[in-house]
Order: sequence, then C-alpha cells, then structure tokens
Amino acid sequence: MKIIDGHSHLYQKHATVGKLKKTVGDIEGFDIKQLLQRLDEIGVSQLQTMSQSMERIRGMWLGSNALSVALHQAAPEKIVSFAAAEPLDAQDRLNQAQLEELEDLVKHRGIKGLLLTPGYGHYYANDKRIYPFYQKAIELDIPIYFHHSHQFGPPRNCPLKYCQVTLLDDLTIDFPELRFDVEHMGYPWTEELLCIMARSPNVYTDFAMYIEPYLGRGRRLLLARNLAMAREYGVLDRVFYGSDYVGESVDEYIDLLRRELAYIQDGLNHDLTAQGFTPLTPAEIQGFLAGNVRRLWQAK
Ligand SMILES: [Zn+2]
Repeated sequence: MKIIDGHSHLYQKHATVGKLKKTVGDIEGFDIKQLLQRLDEIGVSQLQTMSQSMERIRGMWLGSNALSVALHQAAPEKIVSFAAAEPLDAQDRLNQAQLEELEDLVKHRGIKGLLLTPGYGHYYANDKRIYPFYQKAIELDIPIYFHHSHQFGPPRNCPLKYCQVTLLDDLTIDFPELRFDVEHMGYPWTEELLCIMARSPNVYTDFAMYIEPYLGRGRRLLLARNLAMAREYGVLDRVFYGSDYVGESVDEYIDLLRRELAYIQDGLNHDLTAQGFTPLTPAEIQGFLAGNVRRLWQAK
C-alpha cells in the first residue's frame, strides 16, 4: 500500500533567526539512503516536510526555506517540500520580500506549497493586506497549509483569536479557487470547518497531532467523532493524515509513523464503533493515507 505523510517538519527544528540550518550538511548524521530505506520498509512512498516561520513575534523558525529546498533536492521523488512565510513584516506591512522569495522558490527551486501560521504571527488570515499571498498561490498553482487551531504551550505563543476557523470563510468567498489545508481539523472549531468544506471543494483538512501529540494524551475519541462528522458533511475524501513530526531522528520519525499508521489501520474503527458510529471502509482509510492529500497537492 502506498502511504503519504501529508504534514511533517522532518529535519526542521526550532532555531532562532541567525542560527537557521540551510543545507543538509547542517543536519548531524543526515543519511538520505537510510531514511528512504526505512520509509520503504513501512510502505511510506512520500513525505511532506515544511519550514515554519515564527519570525515576526518570536524571532524563530522551524528549519528554513533553504533547508526545505535542500531536502527536496536530496530525494525529489520522495520528499515534497513546502516553504513558510510571515505575510506581514515587523512593521505590519505586506512582506514583499517573502512574496518575491515564494515565487522564486516555486518556479525555480522545487517548492510545492506554502505554510502560513496566523496564530504565531499574530495576524488575521482574512487581512486584506496579505491578499497578494493568496493571489500568488493561485497564480503559482500551489496549496497553502494554515495552522489555524489550538496549540499546546503558553497562550501568548498562539492567541486563539487569530485562529478562528470562520476567518477562513472569507478566503473561500474571495478566492474560491485557492486550495488550502486547515491543519489539525481546525480544533476546536471542527464543525465550523466541516461546514466551510461542505460548500468549498478546494478546502482540505488533516488530523495531525490527534493520535500521539508531543504533550498530553492523544485525542483519539475526538478524532473518531470528527471523522464521523466529516462523513456526515460529505467531506471525508478531503481529510488526510500527517505525523507533524518535528526533529532530526530517523528512528524517532519511523517509530512515530509506525505507531500512528497501525492505529489508523487497526484501532481507529474500534473508537468509532465504541461511540456508535459506522466504521470506516478500507477505501476511506486509504484516502486518508494517500489519495486525498495527493489531490490537494496536484497542480491542475
Ligand atoms: Zn505542523
């Protein structure tokens, strides 16, 4: 079976601006052959990895856009790399430099999508000052991932007012052709998100961090409920899996994938039926693991 990790930050760790890793040579023990062999062993055919900019408020990144490019170049068929941006600069103006960088990254350096994190950058996704980023994504035919949900950790890092899912409804009105993923099923506004998805065929969602988050317990019963709800809204074929792994350890990454994939294939239906929901079909599960995210990524 072909499996895709649709959302990760493999090899992209926290670092302050000025100390960002930019090449695979900066990653201790980087061994692409070993990674590809281990992925093969567990049936994972592709993985997505993305940098994440938290520069505007916290002066930090996960990885860097240069590292995203280098990772894609290390295994162009297997590694799908996204870049990140803070669409507003420190003076609250459109970040023209990053807009130009995005175009170059996509046109010339193999980048396949963009991550925006309004909660970390303290801006609203429907702020018209940043609309040029959406126009550019449409022009470049790339999807955007939004971190638009709750985050563990100190509240000031990610104020929830910037993550309200209904802010994204404006995007479906102003940019109906924009393909985007709302990470983590927009938790805790999942039902609002599913309503948006039900009338906007270019909106997708992932269930990263529900099974084995870094902090606290997983939310497996909520995941089962949310998937049942997604089926009721008729949008289950736009839901996909991602590990959300952040780190540089191949062992840790493969072990996480192995445990989460085993749960999706063998345990998830138990948590649906325990709540009285109809179990998922093999085809629906296979959609989570590959077909759905492939449709989101696919250029027209
Ligand atoms: Zn993530």
